[in-house]
Formats: sequence, C-alpha cells, structure tokens
Amino acid sequence: MQTTQEQKRLLNCTKVNEITGCYIWTRKTSIDGYGQTMIKESCGSVHLERAHHASYVAFYGEVPQGKKVRQGCGNSLCINPEHLELVVS
Ligand SMILES: [Zn+2]
Repeated sequence: MQTTQEQKRLLNCTKVNEITGCYIWTRKTSIDGYGQTMIKESCGSVHLERAHHASYVAFYGEVPQGKKVRQGCGNSLCINPEHLELVVS
C-alpha cells in the first residue's frame, strides 16, 4: 500500500511499542487521554482532531455517520490503523 503524506505525518508523531505493536502518540494529548492533531481541511481551515480518528480517516477513509473510531487494543494513545475499529457512537 502506498503511504500518503498524511499517513506519514501521523506516523512521524508516534513511537512503536515492540511488544503490543501499538503506535503510541507522542505529541499533544487531550485531557481525557487521547492523542490530538491539527487537521487541515480542503477549504484551508484547520481544526483539532483526535489522532486515532485522523489515522482511521488517513488509512481507510471517512468514518460513517453514527460510528466512531476506537482502539481495539485498549490503548487510548494508539493510532495503529490495524488496531482501530468502528463502533456505534
Ligand atoms: Zn494499539
């Protein structure tokens, strides 16, 4: 799979946990313990987004209405796309 700029940018903000395979977010985090990143929209404006949500979008595409992204591994700082899953929000 080809790695896009956005995927690279996100992965550059992580370090890999060799044991669990988690990509641990190393930058800004929210008060409830999730990674946070700025997302630039196509119109040019920016907004703050949860890093794992941004990772899901970067690797798989938009999150469907009524769903949210969570880490199947249980680590709220993990953005490994293979650890992300959709659940009903
Ligand atoms: Zn993980």
